[in-house]
Formats: sequence, structure tokens, C-alpha cells
Amino acid sequence: MNKLAQLDHQFVWHPFTQMRDWLKREPVVIVAGKGAVLHDIRGREYLDANSSIWTNLHGHNHPRINAAIQRQLKKVAHSSALGVANEPASILARELVAAANREIYDLRYTIDESYAKSPRKSQIANRKLKKVFFSDDGSTALEVALKLAYEFTRRARSAGVSPASRAKVQPRFLSLEGAYHGDTVGAVSLGHIDLFHKHYSGLLFKTDKVMSPYCYRCPFNRAKPERADAREYRQCNWECAGLVEKKFATQGRKGNPYAAFVFEPLIQGAAGMIPQPRGWLRRVTEIARSHEALLIADEVMTGFGRTGCLESRLQAVSPTSFPPKGGTPNTLFASHHESVQPDFLCLAKGLTGGYLPMAATLTTQKVFDAFLGEYGEFKTFFHGHSYTANQLGAAAALASLDVLQGKPSICARQNLEKNLHDELQTLWSLPNVGDIRQVGLIAGVELVRDWRTREPFDLRERAGIRVCEAMARRGVLTRPVGNVIVLMPPYCTTPKQAWRMVRVLRESICETLV
Ligand code: PMP
Repeated sequence: MNKLAQLDHQFVWHPFTQMRDWLKREPVVIVAGKGAVLHDIRGREYLDANSSIWTNLHGHNHPRINAAIQRQLKKVAHSSALGVANEPASILARELVAAANREIYDLRYTIDESYAKSPRKSQIANRKLKKVFFSDDGSTALEVALKLAYEFTRRARSAGVSPASRAKVQPRFLSLEGAYHGDTVGAVSLGHIDLFHKHYSGLLFKTDKVMSPYCYRCPFNRAKPERADAREYRQCNWECAGLVEKKFATQGRKGNPYAAFVFEPLIQGAAGMIPQPRGWLRRVTEIARSHEALLIADEVMTGFGRTGCLESRLQAVSPTSFPPKGGTPNTLFASHHESVQPDFLCLAKGLTGGYLPMAATLTTQKVFDAFLGEYGEFKTFFHGHSYTANQLGAAAALASLDVLQGKPSICARQNLEKNLHDELQTLWSLPNVGDIRQVGLIAGVELVRDWRTREPFDLRERAGIRVCEAMARRGVLTRPVGNVIVLMPPYCTTPKQAWRMVRVLRESICETLV
């Protein structure tokens, strides 16, 4: 075994990994990367088919991001945000605020054609995200939103309420079935994946969950399985949105309405790449707003263009009114695809283009103002991390945003989205492929025993893991979420590389399951 692999085996404990299995075989040791390709110590090449767990945007070793980090490195690598400000973080905060509030027209007609007849003002135009709190990772971005929303609500509610009744109206949170928002204790409390979370129940605070729209396995979907994305042929009456309404109403009657609704917009990642049917997000966030709940959008995975270009979506939904008046909108965030502007926008992973750990939680002036006061009132937000607003991360993020908003990247994303879609269609002929679901540049392929029955594999059979192991042997790296194989390539992936990723997935399914 290679020396570095030996060291790994001797000393490193890997995340979300059964280490007994890990220690049975020599690990792939990555030593270099360029574009969508990673190189290992034995000289083998791999396509990075999940963008190094959903982080990398423009490919590895990107000249502009490298140069930005090197320029910053010549000045200073890090100084604390506790007590001093710094150059790239200040500029980055301005750019994030600009990107999160970009003037885009109301897109409601894309999801509700009757809306076009009676347009109201866009939520995006009305609600501005104005402040940025930096942290380190997706989990911490969520912790920040959680604590801010909690304290904001508690303060708003405690005005004029007796201490006894205050205890009964502890702010409560609602999140989705299958939710995953990170691994710190607050983020785990918002999560609802038993496999990951149940052992820690004693450590957690109670949150509620509501049905998420998993069309492929939805008990309300009366449609028989077809060879198409289940969202397209579903037969239901939006019972899932009805359940959200019911949940809010019931909680309201208890005299303690939900403080916040937490969601991943358009697609839930770790739940199994579960996409929402068009219009769901808009509907449920309107319900939440009507019950005065804050909206916390976890765009840790979906942010920075990962859910595709709005142009493609508009074109698909409304070809006659495309291109729209006022030019084509370009948004980097999934929530905006349904004209939803949250009160908290949580960003991480792709923020630095997948280079460095950095996260941001954007929020409104109103939330910010609730923490203002005289020093002695101690209304300060007592939260922060050593590396908050780190300069190297901020420099990488600025360069990444610049690349992302340039025409070449926008075109590359549009092309890749289409290529991926076309390639994935070839998998429908396999009996073990139950559902293929794609949202922009994110794709999940759900493996089943037989597509006609939708019967799942028992997790102990490790079907997803075995398929991914077979893919790695063929030079394509990804990781499954249970029985769902994830393809989420970097934006620089060429048509040939996209073709190879899908062909290798096909061969690996055939070798492992058929
Ligand atoms: N939210 C979502 C939607 C995620 O996918 C993840 C990580 N996969 C997190 C939060 C947590 O991010 P991190 O691992 O950077 O803490």
C-alpha cells in the first residue's frame, strides 16, 4: 500500500464512513486536480462527478481563483473579524447582498399562469437582504440563522408578556421530512433523517416536521410508475401543500405559531436528491408568511447557480413569452426561481468556488435592528468563530462570483444542464432505475429492485455504495445518498465528460445490479 494511504489508515477518521469497511481497501489518494479531473497518487485520473461533495463550481485549479488567493496571500491570510474589518470580506458582503437582491421581475407567472392576469409586486423587490454574517461551513450558516431567528422572535414576542407565559411560547421551528441542515447540534435538531440523527435525540431540541413533496414515493400520488421524472406524471391534489397549511394552522391554535420555516429550495440534497414540483415552494412559503413565520432558506447546496439558469426554466414553462420584457433574468439562488425571498439565506459550499471553508448567512435590516441597543442592554448577537470573514476565503469567493456572473460560465451552465439531461435519458431502459430527477445541474438516479414496483433496496445491501465503487474503478468519483446516485458535475465539465459520467454509471449499474 502506498505510504500516504498507510498514514491515512493509521491516523485519519473519515466523515460519514464505516471505518471497518474503509480499512479493508487502499483508499484513492488525491494529489492534484484540473478542471473536472482529479489525479491520484498512482497516476490514475477520475472525473469529479459530485464536485467534491457539491462544493466545486468552476473546476479544480481554476486560474482566476488561484490568482485571487495568491494575490491575497501576499497581503495577509487572516485577521480576526472580532474587533477589526478587512478588505475582501467587506467587498464580498456588498457583492453577496447585490446578488441576493438583484432586480429581477416577478416570476410568478412561471408557476401560476393565472397570476399573469393580476400581477402584484414581487416579494423579491419588497424584501431585501441587507446584512451578511460570515461563518465557516454550511452547518454554521444554519446555526447562525437559527439563533438569529430564535432570538428575533423571542424578543418580538416577549414585549409585554409575563415571564410565565413567555416560557410556553418558546419559538418553535418547522422543517421538512428528510431534512438535513448540517451536523452541529442546532442544525441536527432541524434535521429529520433518523439514520443520522436519532442517536443524538438526547442532545437536541424539539422541532416539528412536515411532509416534503417526494413525488416518486408520495402516498398521495395515484399515478403508476412511468419512465419519466415522477413530478411530470404525478396525479395528486397538492395534498403535501395542504398538510403544510394544516401544520401551521394547528400550531397557531396552540397559541405559539411557528417562528420559522426551514427548507432547501427546489431540491432536498441529503434526503435523496428530492426535487419539488413546480409551484410547491411558492405555495408553502406563502402559507408560512400568512402565519407570520420567518423563512430560512438553506441554499448550502442549491446556491450559486447549481439549480440551473432561470432562462432554461422560463423557456420550458412559457415559450411564448420568452424572452421576457426587460431582458433575461439571471439569478444565482434557487429560492428566486419561484420568486421567494427568504428572511435568511444560508450559503456555504460553492461560496468560495469549492476552495476554502467559508459560509454566509444573509438577513434583513429588521432582524439586524433587533440586536441594536446600548452596550449595557446586552442585545449583541453573542456568536462568532475564529475564522469568521477569513481573507483568503473571501478573496476566493469574490473571484468565484466574478467567474459565475460572466457570460462564458452562464453559457457553460446552460449547455451542461442540457447535456446532462440528454445523457440521463439513456438510463431509463435499465430495470433498476426507478426515477431520474434533475434540477439544473443536480441529478439523482434512484435505484430500485424493479421500476414497475418501485421496491427499494434494503440499505444493508449497499446497492448505491457498490455502484459508486464500480464507478470509481472506471474513473468516475461520486457518492450515493442511500440508493440514489448523485451526479453534480463542476460547471466546466465538457459534453464528452458528461457523456462519460453517465455511460460509466450505466455500466456500473449493469455490472452491480442487473
Ligand atoms: N445544508 C445542506 C443543504 C447541505 O447539503 C449540507 C452539507 N451537505 C449542510 C447544510 C452542511 O454543510 P457543511 O457540511 O458545510 O457543514
